[in-house]
Amino acid sequence: MINKPKGCYDLTGITAKKWKYVDRVIDELMEKYNYNYIRTPIFESSELFHRGVGESTDIVTKETYDFKDRGDRNITLRPEGTAGIVRSYIENKMYGEPGPVKVYYNGTMYRYERPQSGRDREFTQFGVEVLGSDDPFVDAEVISIPVVLFKMLGLQGIKVKINSLGDKESRDNYREALIKYFTPHIEELCEDCHDRLGKNPLRILDCKVDKDNPILAKAPKTIDYLNDESKARFEQVKTYLDELEIDYEVDTRLVRGLDYYNHTVFEIEVDVEGLGSNNVLGGGGRYNGLVEMLDGPATACMGFAMGTGRFIQALESMDVKMPIHDDVELFIMYVSDTEKKYAASLTQYLRVNGFRVDTEYTGRGLKAQFKQADRLKAKYLIILNDEDLKNDEVKIKNNKTKEEELVSIDYLLYYLDEHLLEDDYDLDDCNCGEECKCKGEHDHKCKCHGGENEEV
Ligand code: AMP
Repeated sequence: MINKPKGCYDLTGITAKKWKYVDRVIDELMEKYNYNYIRTPIFESSELFHRGVGESTDIVTKETYDFKDRGDRNITLRPEGTAGIVRSYIENKMYGEPGPVKVYYNGTMYRYERPQSGRDREFTQFGVEVLGSDDPFVDAEVISIPVVLFKMLGLQGIKVKINSLGDKESRDNYREALIKYFTPHIEELCEDCHDRLGKNPLRILDCKVDKDNPILAKAPKTIDYLNDESKARFEQVKTYLDELEIDYEVDTRLVRGLDYYNHTVFEIEVDVEGLGSNNVLGGGGRYNGLVEMLDGPATACMGFAMGTGRFIQALESMDVKMPIHDDVELFIMYVSDTEKKYAASLTQYLRVNGFRVDTEYTGRGLKAQFKQADRLKAKYLIILNDEDLKNDEVKIKNNKTKEEELVSIDYLLYYLDEHLLEDDYDLDDCNCGEECKCKGEHDHKCKCHGGENEEV
């Protein structure tokens, strides 16, 4: 037997349906924010990530999937989405368009991590990038996107942490201060941090090994090294967050793992039991130098990424309901050949008329078909019978109450519309716990979806 590679997973069954639903909500939300979908290659030249993501980040030094292709080119499976989008922005001369360019992606990333819960080698990220604007309003808008998404899907208990690394001058001053502070303590830090001290000392603050080391807790704070301009900019970001009604807290130790950030950085955590250090659902920040670093024109950019798997894990841990179907509305049953032919056309007819329909394909007898209908959680059974068909009638059985009725074919659609509508979602399918009649749909105004419990 061939098994899947370590750190990968097969997406199947009800979990796959949840992912598809989350994907749909993301697409709808992005349409409202007017961000365009972008798809870049899953693999790129290795150089893109070495130059773009940074030589001092774990995801480039230790975690990339690198290989030579048959043309002897150095190729890397993308460990994150931003570098590829910036490459595409430059290659396709998108900077020539009246900006800013607002895009979103939703695809697989690859990191050679030690597989554990919430850390996979193949995982999916949803993220956005805004290229071509330095407006602090953009920083606030980008931060608002995951917050609104989480609210729409009914995820409670999220916390937004923000910080500013400032402009180049502020970041350089802070870097100096960190080197001065950490140098006498170097022996108390992990091996990797020895390396980081010379290359990018900010990364020491982000170290997974040293995260509870008291030396880190007493380290200089970014906020004390911001010059006046950077301070004023950070204040503006906070003002816009207030305008967008996004709650946040300032965390002066937040630096984020990648080398290319400046000014605003942020992370979103969720307070859910059982997620441990995987409670960080996503994060991002401003990266005004990256386009230039990759040979494009100086361009101010802001973005974020979140892991869809971790997000769905959080939704599941909180038992958040989603309007997805794990049943069929109708199961069509038959025995004879003529009934089977009728079943084929009736199945097609009902599907094109909008019903979720399944039928028998393996030659089972009626008794086994009843069992199969139960397995599929069919709401109604249509039991075909040659005698009934001669009279242009079909037998319909409510699979819950077990009541049966003979229904004329001419009247069938009306009958099903009426009966299936009645049996649709329970009111308590929504997560707000109120009788809001939302049927768990996200596009409305009940409390758990960010509104005031109004009816749809
Ligand atoms: P990062 O690009 O490292 O800032 O990651 C952003 C988000 O992507 C994280 O908060 C996670 O939700 C998700 N993520 C990162 N690495 C992994 C991984 N190995 N497995 C699953 N999700 C991940």
